[in-house]
Amino acid sequence: MRDRNELDAQQEASLAPFAVRASKSRGRLLDEGEAPYRGPFQRDRDRIIHCAAFRRLEYKTQVFVSVMEGDHYRNRLTHTMEVTQIARTIARAMGLNEDLVEVLGLAHDLGHGPFGHSGEDALDEMMRDHGGFDHNIQGLRIVDRVERRYPDFIGLNLSYETREGFTKNLSALERGALKFAATERPPLEVQLVEHADEIAYNTHDLEDGLVSGALREDAVREVALWMDTEKEVTGEHPILARDQSLRWRAVVRRLIAKLATDMIRASETRLRAHAIETLEEVRACPESLMVFSAEMTERKSELERFLFQHFYRSSKVSSHTLIWQARLKEVFKVYQNDPRLLPEDHRERTLSQGEPLERIICDYVAGMTDRFAERVWETYCRA
Ligand code: MG
Repeated sequence: MRDRNELDAQQEASLAPFAVRASKSRGRLLDEGEAPYRGPFQRDRDRIIHCAAFRRLEYKTQVFVSVMEGDHYRNRLTHTMEVTQIARTIARAMGLNEDLVEVLGLAHDLGHGPFGHSGEDALDEMMRDHGGFDHNIQGLRIVDRVERRYPDFIGLNLSYETREGFTKNLSALERGALKFAATERPPLEVQLVEHADEIAYNTHDLEDGLVSGALREDAVREVALWMDTEKEVTGEHPILARDQSLRWRAVVRRLIAKLATDMIRASETRLRAHAIETLEEVRACPESLMVFSAEMTERKSELERFLFQHFYRSSKVSSHTLIWQARLKEVFKVYQNDPRLLPEDHRERTLSQGEPLERIICDYVAGMTDRFAERVWETYCRA
């Protein structure tokens, strides 16, 4: 069996000088020693895959409410797998730490509640006087405080760099409050996963939108990035002009490749322009170093505006999400009115961790899958 030193040396020989190195990880909140043949980020990945919050991603809404819209579209688990694969591919091409990128991808949506962004808005409203709700901060709560799997500590006791993935959108003040180095920027691996998330949802939302009928193809063709890509692929394969669903898949596939390639090139250009040679220089650089080119940023914004106006707010999507936004608030109130309905291990946390009841209810409701929340609503709220 190869030991850790050998495995670390092998991996690190292939890494770019500015990548995160497993052997230099800043470690876990509680030191557990090293595993014999798994690096810290592989170990974190295994902890994420085996945790309850990860399994529940399968029954959580990405855009379409899963309990109402059936099985054709992305859910949070399949979205998570797409993000992770896109991110790993880019990481390997740039010599970044693929193990770290993998766990960051797998964990990036753990903090989402049921019913997608509508669910998040509902929870944020219910928590208005108690610190609000944000899915990134919630992700960190899950891995630090909510999951219970180990006798010696609460949470999953993940590595600093893995936990840092949840801080990507936070200000220096907020990072500091969560005990991360306030003025530092996250490593390239964290910056990369944020963009891989955008690549995945922008492209798969186009596909799900078209397949569901929420988006019309002639409307999508007004987006320059789509139209140019469609011309490209139908030019190469004339059959695509006649076969609609094959055409959509070909365009989406090409779009992912275009966005990924653009990001690799633009980021490498920027790394060179800033003469970045070490991880410390990445952390000290006030600007994002993982970027799309200026041209692609503009085209991507056009696409995102289109999706916002024509897809996320379309009646096909919002008629269901708005119903559940209202119902999730009713579910929250069930536990506010009678905290005895909370499972015992959750109730205990109000006492043992000294947290307000609302935060514990929020953890519990945010942890629900769409179908579990629906069952609770049917049991306690249906008039
Ligand atoms: Mg995501």
